[in-house]
Amino acid sequence: MTRPIVSISLCEEYEIQQVRKAVAEAMEHLGGMGNFVKPGDKVLLKVNLLFPSKPDEVVTSHPTVVKALIELIEKAGGKVIVGDSPGLAFTKSRLEKTYQKCQMDKAIEGTGAELNWNVESARVSNPDGKLLKSLEVIQIIEQVDKVITVPKLKTHTFTTFTGGTKILYGVIPGLTKAAYHAKLPDPKDFSDMLLDIQVYVKPTLTFMDGVIGMEGKGPSGGEAKKAGAFIASTDPVALDIVACNMIKLDPKTVPTISNAVERKMTTGKVEDIEIRGTSLENFSDLKFKLAMKKDMPIPRFILNFIGNRFTKKPVPDKNKCIGCGICATACPKHCIQIADKLAKINYKECIRCYCCHELCPERAIELK
Ligand code: SF4
Ligand code: SF4
Repeated sequence: MTRPIVSISLCEEYEIQQVRKAVAEAMEHLGGMGNFVKPGDKVLLKVNLLFPSKPDEVVTSHPTVVKALIELIEKAGGKVIVGDSPGLAFTKSRLEKTYQKCQMDKAIEGTGAELNWNVESARVSNPDGKLLKSLEVIQIIEQVDKVITVPKLKTHTFTTFTGGTKILYGVIPGLTKAAYHAKLPDPKDFSDMLLDIQVYVKPTLTFMDGVIGMEGKGPSGGEAKKAGAFIASTDPVALDIVACNMIKLDPKTVPTISNAVERKMTTGKVEDIEIRGTSLENFSDLKFKLAMKKDMPIPRFILNFIGNRFTKKPVPDKNKCIGCGICATACPKHCIQIADKLAKINYKECIRCYCCHELCPERAIELK
């Protein structure tokens, strides 16, 4: 196995000049953007746009980081399309609202980049996948030469951590995501499916924004946490291993990483990764709180036996819920009803995927 390379650069805040410098520095440690993008390449900058959210809410890709990456890709001769499939329906009106609130329109200002408005999907074959031998993806993926992803450094209620592998779930169109959740309710199987998507997409580069990430109940209900760094690699799993070490999260407890070890995509050890630029020692005092206490993954046979009895329940807060119904639309088991402007959950059907918690714009779903 060749030793993967991961680059780290420091960046204190989202001030555009600082961001430009640190993004360029992270890329220089990998040989420069020209190593990955050739003149004429059509590049999808696959950002993280979970739902319409302002940049200071730290849920979505920051516009200054997106702008700095666009500038570097264009300098290398690439043509950039910025896109993602946010939660809920994959429609032009949903994209419009999401791009505006996440300030992706500002990110492309003054550049030659475009936002993706293609809301078609395509069925593609994935012969090297383990669980998914074919999958439905957003069509734009099929129309570009390269995919560069821009995950944020965040912990996650369902998959423990969201990073280079998890961001690729955004290539599954809108509500089809709920169908995959329903089919694969176990985080281990779900993470194998995420690795299958990675096997299909083969991102050219993963560029993680850890300037300000999210700890606790991520990817949307946690608290902002500064790491002050960018992390970049051609290997999303290696990048995730380095990021986990940076925030003191044991990579073995992250199912995308432990599954990747089983699938011989990585050894899972940070010692087997070449880190360039800033060393991990710089982050010795940094620690992210987890969404839920989890020292080791619970073996599947035990989970099958105990069912949902010891997993946290999503509980709507009647003081915060406005009855918008977004959670009911997103729920893969259709077990949320809205009555008297309040979400009500049928726990007999609930599979604890936490999509409702993830997508609630009011942060009205607690995990208890
Ligand atoms: S819990 Fe959140 S998403 Fe669900 S209805 Fe209430 S406010 Fe809307
Ligand atoms: S109620 Fe929430 S956690 Fe339960 S299945 Fe529906 S979306 Fe998932």
